[in-house]
Amino acid sequence: MTEEQEDTLVAYEIMSRISPPPANCPSCDSLLPSNLGELDCVVCSAKVRVEHEPTRHDWLNEKVTCPACRHVLVAGTDVRPADLRCASCRHEFTLSPKVIKVEIKCPACERGLRITQRPGERNLKCPACQEGFRVTF
Ligand SMILES: [Zn+2]
Ligand SMILES: [Zn+2]
Ligand SMILES: [Zn+2]
Repeated sequence: MTEEQEDTLVAYEIMSRISPPPANCPSCDSLLPSNLGELDCVVCSAKVRVEHEPTRHDWLNEKVTCPACRHVLVAGTDVRPADLRCASCRHEFTLSPKVIKVEIKCPACERGLRITQRPGERNLKCPACQEGFRVTF
């Protein structure tokens, strides 16, 4: 009866469950970072202002579970990342922006791969056939 795997490590960072709708750079059409406000296009370094009221509203009211004591608190801030403190146990942690994962297909063997959607260009290697290829978002 040892159920300790949850209590041994306390996280200092948890991920938001809400992400803004994907936005593209108006000058080069690359994917912008998944956030709101003044964003830097990683491809052409343009500064782009992205706003989305429903996401701000949802971020403000997002319920998060304290990783230390499981107390549920309301984020109370409409920016991500946000530094939060649990009202119950005083544990401090960061609520980071949601990381978006996408399915892509290896161009050589067509195996489905799940990767983090990060703006810009990236070199990948297929774990199945070892073929190197490039993705751009
Ligand atoms: Zn751009
Ligand atoms: Zn707590
Ligand atoms: Zn492959």
